[in-house]
Parts: sequence; structure tokens; C-alpha cells
Amino acid sequence: MVKKYDLVVIGTGTAGSITASKCKKAGWNVAIIDDRPFGGTCAQRGCDPKKVLTGVAELFDWNKRMNGKGIQDDARIDWQDVMAFKRTFTASIPEDTEEKFKKLGVDRYHGKAVFHSETVLKVGSEMLEGKCILIATGAEPVKMGIKGEENLVTSDDFLELDELPNHIVFIGGGFISFEFAHIAARAGSEVHILHRSEHALKHFDPDLVDLLMKRSKEVGIQIHLEVAVEGIEKLGSSFIVKGKQDDNEVEWETVLVVHGAGRQPALDMELETGNVERDKGGVIVNEYMQSVSNPHVYAAGDVASTDGPPLTPIATKESHVVAANLLKGNHLKARYPVVPSVVFTIPKLASVGMSEKQARESKLNVEVKYQDMSDWFTYRRTNEKVAACKIIIDRDNGIILGAHILSGEADELINYFALAIRFQIPIQELKEMPFAYPTAASDIGYMLK
Ligand SMILES: Cc1cc2nc3c(=O)[nH]c(=O)nc-3n(C[C@H](O)[C@H](O)[C@H](O)COP(=O)(O)OP(=O)(O)OC[C@H]3O[C@@H](n4cnc5c(N)ncnc54)[C@H](O)[C@@H]3O)c2cc1C
Repeated sequence: MVKKYDLVVIGTGTAGSITASKCKKAGWNVAIIDDRPFGGTCAQRGCDPKKVLTGVAELFDWNKRMNGKGIQDDARIDWQDVMAFKRTFTASIPEDTEEKFKKLGVDRYHGKAVFHSETVLKVGSEMLEGKCILIATGAEPVKMGIKGEENLVTSDDFLELDELPNHIVFIGGGFISFEFAHIAARAGSEVHILHRSEHALKHFDPDLVDLLMKRSKEVGIQIHLEVAVEGIEKLGSSFIVKGKQDDNEVEWETVLVVHGAGRQPALDMELETGNVERDKGGVIVNEYMQSVSNPHVYAAGDVASTDGPPLTPIATKESHVVAANLLKGNHLKARYPVVPSVVFTIPKLASVGMSEKQARESKLNVEVKYQDMSDWFTYRRTNEKVAACKIIIDRDNGIILGAHILSGEADELINYFALAIRFQIPIQELKEMPFAYPTAASDIGYMLK
């Protein structure tokens, strides 16, 4: 028997949950499906648990930096304690999420959803028909197509490790590898990052990336560029990662190999049967987040092919747009004005707005202000060796076009620059703004000098 709903949502992460709740509260008959414990990536296997681990590693690093400056003795990270602490944030999420939907009256299904027709989904033996369907299935690690790929563990597995191995190889030089490598190195592992091309962290400012690479090496992270990984062999309890660098055969023997080579939309759900078109970025949607090929279907979050990067605030935004358009007809367009992003390394690397390259290629009258901030009070106080910023300004009107920061304070500072760019606050106004002192924000005036 086919169960009929106004809306069937696939995915209980950020993008699925918001639309499901809003439509249910508006009186719709709603079902939600997930093939993993309810609650999605960010809260269980992404942003939040990662930040808990990073927080501990930061504290370790700060302690070490202050040794002989008021702090005696080195701190030590107890991995099992850290993981136990992390689980205090993640363990209850499936039950809490399920309970929340139950209270709202949303029907819950566990299992993999696949299309049976344009409006019917199959979940195990159940058939669910939706007047509307939201695909909010997020992303998964890309298939690397190398020999021994099954020997790789994912970011999900890394965040569940009961013991931290003494040697780890991360494949790929993106944000996941760098963030995890900074945690693991502080916790005592020998860490290697193998990256395919000449530049790691390609979405971030190359000058600041160079500084971060230097700092990463100082804390023991070994970064190997232009390495084409070709296979992973199991050898007893270790693994041999094999590849080519400059036409030479290279290999690393290690205990754990982590996939950090990028993520792709999770769309293994017989889309053709549902007449849902996709491209490399995910489900192809119009500006109302509706599938261009099947009007019953909407998509949001990491799985939607849009201009928005695969980040939680974008999944949130798109999910609200979908809910508004479902409830009142297509009227709200998804827009992505200014999206800050942060790599949670130690120090952190953050970026918002135009890159220097984009700004120089534009026809604008661009000024690039680069400053080494390491001898500023904010960073001397915490004994940080590396702190720098690059602020890009339109000389004609004094409006900030882009901001790029590497420092322990970069994650909070970047939000001020996002506001300034979004609301076009002239730099003169920012310079005159009396921020509380001594705070990192009180440096903003100097960052604009
Ligand atoms: C390690 C890591 C760290 C991250 N750190 C940050 C960060 O610091 N800041 C930030 O903004 N973003 C971060 N992200 C990205 C962020 O987690 C995602 O952008 C966000 O979670 C996307 O939400 P979503 O709702 O689109 O997908 P998800 O939360 O992934 O939810 C999708 C759900 O759909 C389910 N599903 C998939 N296919 C099917 C199917 N066929 N049938 C049924 N269910 C299915 C999945 O099991 C999953 O539960 C990080 C991601 C990772 C992996």
C-alpha cells in the first residue's frame, strides 16, 4: 500500500529538518527518511564534534606556547577522554531528533530512499507518495578509483576513533585533512598529508596558506605536494600508501589512511526513475530550489547544485527557502551574498568575499592591504608565532571587497568583515568604530590601515 503525504523529505540533517518542521507546523502531512541515525552530518559527524576536538587541541597548543610564560609543565591530550567528551554532544542526537519529529507529528522512516516514480519513493518495503519531495541527502566522500580504496577510513570514522594511531596519512589537502591533521599532531601522532596538486586549500588565500603550511610543518605535520596516490595495500596491521611524485615511485607505511580528498552529492537513489536531473554539483534546481525536470521535487543543502558552498549556514538558508516556496508557492529565491568560511586549524584560516586574484581581475580600483600581525598585542599575549591578514578594498568608495585572515581569532574576526561587506560599511566608519578593548575586534581599525 502506498502511504500518501503532502511532503516527503529525504535526509534528517540541517537541510531536511527545517523544511520538514516548518511544513508540519503549517499543517502539512509530512514524512522524513534517513538511512543513518537521525540528525545529519553537522551535529554528529561534522562541524560540531570536529570543533569539540579542535577546542582541546587549541588548549593544548596554547598551554605549550605559554610554557615558561606563567604555565609550567606540558599538557597532554588524553584521546579517550576527548572522545568521551565529544560523545556528550553527539550521542543523544539521534534520539533527540527522532523525539522532536515524533512530538511534531512527522512520520519517521529508517532506510535508504530510492525513486519508484516521479512522486513515489521506496524505503525498504514501504512506498511513500509525496505531492512534494525534498531531496536533502547531503554529501559523501568522492570515489577515488584507486586500488585498495576499501582500506581508506572516512572523516566519520576519524571522529569515532577510540584510540588515536601513532601514524596517520591523510589523502587530499582540503579543509578536512588539515583540520584533522592539526588535531592529531597535537595529540601525538606522526601525520602526513598527501596532496595531488601544487597548492593545498585552494579556496583560500595562497599567501596565508603558505604561512599555514609553514606553521603546520613546525608542529610536525608533513605535507607532500604533487603526489598522485595510486593505491593502498594492507600489510598485516599497517597499510602501504603508494603513489607517484615527480615521476618517482613513493610510498608511506602507516597505521591509518584517512580520506580527505573531497566530497560529492549523495545521490545514489535512482534519480532517472524520478525524472530528476543532476550534474556534478548535485540536483539541478531553479532559483526557487525546485528540480528543473520534476516539479514535485525540491533540493537543498550539500546535495543541491547551487552557487552556495557545502556549508551548514547554506543548508539552513536553502531549507528555509524551500519551506517558503512549498507553503506559499514559488516566490523566494535563494541568494548567496557573502559567505565566510573557516579552516579550523591552529591557527585558523578564514576567508570572505573576493580573493586577491578575483579582485585584480575585476575592473575595480583595488587596494590590497597585507599585514603581518604576529607582533601585535593580541598575538604576543597568546604567544602566537603566526598571524596575518589581507584585506582587499575598493579604493573608489572605501568598501571592503574581500578579507583573508590567519590567526587564532580568525573565526570570529571574519564575521565582522562579512557584515562590513554585506552592508557595504565604508572602512572609514569601521576605523572610527570604538570596539571594546583589548579584544581581537579592536584590531580591525589597524587591519584596515
Ligand atoms: C568533517 C566535516 C566537517 C565539517 N565542518 C563544517 C564546518 O566547520 N562548518 C560548516 O559550515 N560546515 C561544515 N561541514 C559541512 C556541513 O556538515 C554540511 O554542509 C551540512 O551538514 C549539510 O547538511 P545537509 O542537510 O545538506 O546534509 P546532511 O546533514 O549530510 O544530511 C543528509 C542526510 O541524508 C541521509 N541520506 C543520504 N542519502 C539517503 C538516502 N538515499 N535515503 C535516506 N537518507 C539518505 C544521510 O544519511 C544524512 O543523514 C563539515 C562536514 C564534514 C564532513
